Amino acid sequence: MARAVLQLLPTERREGLNLGHWLGVELPAPHPNWDQLATSTARLVPEASVWPLFARAVSGLHINLCMHHVSATRRNRMTIDERELDHFIEQALDHNPSKERWLTLSFDDGYEDAANYIETRGRLFQRVEFLFFVCPEKAETGAGFRWDLRGAPDDTDHDIYRENTRRELLELSDDPTTRLASVEQCRRINALPNASLGNHTNCHFRATSLSFEDSATELRRSHDAFVRLFGEPRHFAFPFGKPNEDFDDRHVDVLRERGEFNIWTTARRPFHAHDREPGAVLPRFPVDGSWGATQVAFWVALLSARWRNRGINAHVLRPLRNSLLPPTWKRPSI
Ligand SMILES: [Zn+2]
Repeated sequence: MARAVLQLLPTERREGLNLGHWLGVELPAPHPNWDQLATSTARLVPEASVWPLFARAVSGLHINLCMHHVSATRRNRMTIDERELDHFIEQALDHNPSKERWLTLSFDDGYEDAANYIETRGRLFQRVEFLFFVCPEKAETGAGFRWDLRGAPDDTDHDIYRENTRRELLELSDDPTTRLASVEQCRRINALPNASLGNHTNCHFRATSLSFEDSATELRRSHDAFVRLFGEPRHFAFPFGKPNEDFDDRHVDVLRERGEFNIWTTARRPFHAHDREPGAVLPRFPVDGSWGATQVAFWVALLSARWRNRGINAHVLRPLRNSLLPPTWKRPSI
């Protein structure tokens, strides 16, 4: 079956992994991408088979899913259906009854709909950790995000001092689908026993799209704004989050000068409980809102199995300590 599925998939991305060896079949090169492989295969597998597989793949590990909006109606790939998410949590906890809080759900960008979900589910799912990543200056002013503006893509200059004063971004607070959680709601979330706020920068610019000086200023200013509004952060998430693409080691160094919080990325893999030490750079699985609960479970299981299967790809399996940057990474000369 795996071979048939693979032949149906586009082969747009080569990952350099010996996938055929892993699946026990001979495959034509190049290899398909893992997201398509997992979510397509999940449609062919009975749900009753997916959850035990998921539980086995993540057993003894911790996972953190990265999401954005939650809604009763599915709107776009950034919006997960709340019934699918409830179902995912229930099944995941049922099939992996570890007493550790091994499942973390992150919601980035500080949207009001995600805050409402955390407020209602936080008490319901006490074995789950919830992280809510907010742009502190946006939470204070209500200024939304560029990608929520209608019309042509916004290519205005990245100005870290003026972004959150722009009228069109401030007007996004009139629309419940683009509105951000207020400072008061964020504080209520932070007071829940199994939820924490984290800093997500003030303007949500890709760190590598700014000059290093501006990116460092943005990291420091947003940290200070977060402390003023919510106290010392225990978590930070890089906007967009891909190591070496959206941020690099220099940005991690700036953050570590500010405190000993966990630094979350969108590198897709599980981690060990002991990896989560102060200042650690940690992975999260970025979930596509168009996927159902079993597709998410199968995808996490596949990527976790790949990560556990030592010898497939050395850099994926590199033990995480303070950084998950791959060994080929060289610190740039400044
Ligand atoms: Zn974000």
